[in-house]
Amino acid sequence: MDAEIIAVGSELLTPFGTDTNSLYLTGKLNALGIEVRYRIIAGDDHDRLTDAFQNALRRSALIILTGGLGPTEDDITRNVVAEVLGRPLRENPEIRSRIEKRFESLNRSMPPNNLRQSLLPEGAQWLENAHGTAPGIWIERDGVIVILLPGPPRELEPMFESHCMPLLERVGGKERIRTRVYKIIGLPESEVDRVIAPLYTPYQNPATTILSKPGTIEVHLRARAASEEEAEALLGELGDKIELALGEHVFSAHGESLEEVVGMYLMMKQLTLAVAESCTGGLVSERLTRVPGSSNFFLGGAVCYSNELKIRLAGVPAALIEREGAVSKTVAHALSEGIRTRAASSIGVGLTGIAGPGGGSAEKPVGLVFIALTDARGTSVREFRFPGERQRVRYWASQMALEMIRRRVRD
Ligand code: ATP
Ligand code: MG
Repeated sequence: MDAEIIAVGSELLTPFGTDTNSLYLTGKLNALGIEVRYRIIAGDDHDRLTDAFQNALRRSALIILTGGLGPTEDDITRNVVAEVLGRPLRENPEIRSRIEKRFESLNRSMPPNNLRQSLLPEGAQWLENAHGTAPGIWIERDGVIVILLPGPPRELEPMFESHCMPLLERVGGKERIRTRVYKIIGLPESEVDRVIAPLYTPYQNPATTILSKPGTIEVHLRARAASEEEAEALLGELGDKIELALGEHVFSAHGESLEEVVGMYLMMKQLTLAVAESCTGGLVSERLTRVPGSSNFFLGGAVCYSNELKIRLAGVPAALIEREGAVSKTVAHALSEGIRTRAASSIGVGLTGIAGPGGGSAEKPVGLVFIALTDARGTSVREFRFPGERQRVRYWASQMALEMIRRRVRD
């Protein structure tokens, strides 16, 4: 069965709106063996939405529309679908009383507009909304299924999972689709492809895609089979070969982020970490504290952007900065040692560099970053030249700092 998703909302056509509902729905449909062939975004406009929906009816057996089920004038999805399908809207007393009760329980009077949400196209089923007033709508006509879901993800997701998934499981394809994502660091995309192409080219199933993300290369495998277990087995067969071939460069085989992996190793080894950051302005600390449970391994650190604070917060000797400059191997060394001593952590990390666009010189160009790591065995410092603009340099610096920690604590 082929599906089409129509995301409705004029804000989704501006630079500020992102249609994440379609991504969520695609993942869920794929897991049921249903392929998404079209994803359309339509503004809150009667004629254009009519056109989009008519096109969908011509080519797709499952059509999911999201958004535009609210109580306001610009919420037109319900009307357009009813009109195109020739199923007049009728008030459903059960939905009406549910909406009224919801307002009562919130101790608010119901604006008359909300009554629009109790309108149901003839012959349609409604789907309970546990987190809002607009019910979902399920319509079948001549073997085509049309589903209308509310726009807010916190309403749509539980509704889809509890009411649509069980129904779609029955009508969905016999196939199941599973995916696996390997994340790779320290190799360029071309090199990843050179190493693994001989492994994946013999396989049509799983299908392999290589994606370049900032600081990471991702290899996506997508397998189709009669059952989830068989699809997983296919993923395992090719995936194990790929993982073996790329070796230590693979930091994650199940979608975890680099900071999660680093956190996991630190916790496993019961090690603690402190960071002194200059050019990254706290980015390494920010990424590490995204990980739930980071208080178990991350003690904290210092954003020592000025020379004065490098001296006061991380104990970098003033004479060293004077002699070598703030962006230097020895200052990175002093930052990691200093913060480790002051925080009494197992590991200290220090970063200093020139993120640009100003501040570079022939000797010390924009993109030059020194990263030092100190533990009980001593200190190592690496010098990097990251290409690109300021935010890219800063992100790469945080990425390589995390990678240095991963390498040190892994074995
Ligand atoms: P409401 O009753 O809240 O008006 P609705 O079903 O009419 O719900 P919309 O008005 O289209 O939905 O969107 C409400 C909000 O839901 C949007 O402001 C946006 O935050 C979110 N939203 C809508 N569509 C999407 C989408 N495709 N992806 C992610 N978020 C969305
Ligand atoms: Mg709305």
